[in-house]
Amino acid sequence: MDVGEPIWQELDGPRDLTKDERRLLERMVGVVGEPALQRQLDVAVVTARCCCGCSSVRLHSTEPPVAEGRVRQLSRLDRSDHFSVDARSRAPGLTDVHVVLHVVQGRVEELELFAGEGIAVPLADLADPTDVTVA
Ligand SMILES: [Zn+2]
Repeated sequence: MDVGEPIWQELDGPRDLTKDERRLLERMVGVVGEPALQRQLDVAVVTARCCCGCSSVRLHSTEPPVAEGRVRQLSRLDRSDHFSVDARSRAPGLTDVHVVLHVVQGRVEELELFAGEGIAVPLADLADPTDVTVA
């Protein structure tokens, strides 16, 4: 298993995104500019969290997926099943936080917040993401 690969712990039940998770995701999804993805985000919930102690969460949305052809356009690797939105951010004491939204089978799947194995990222103090790329 790769370092930093999440090990999910299901929540007892889905929860709404926190205000800070939503702010971050709105920024990332805004860069993609895909209406289907925006509609998913509008109703997205969190269903699991990473066990390692980092702040990554698994997402779920009941809205329809992004069309396969569109996913292929967005994926620089010419994949029809996955693309990601990558960004960098920072928080007090954390100079390099890697923020990644994974979209799997056209659906929001995971928000990765990685500053090192087991390191919690304080979302309330997280700077607006920069260097946002879609691939
Ligand atoms: Zn983790």
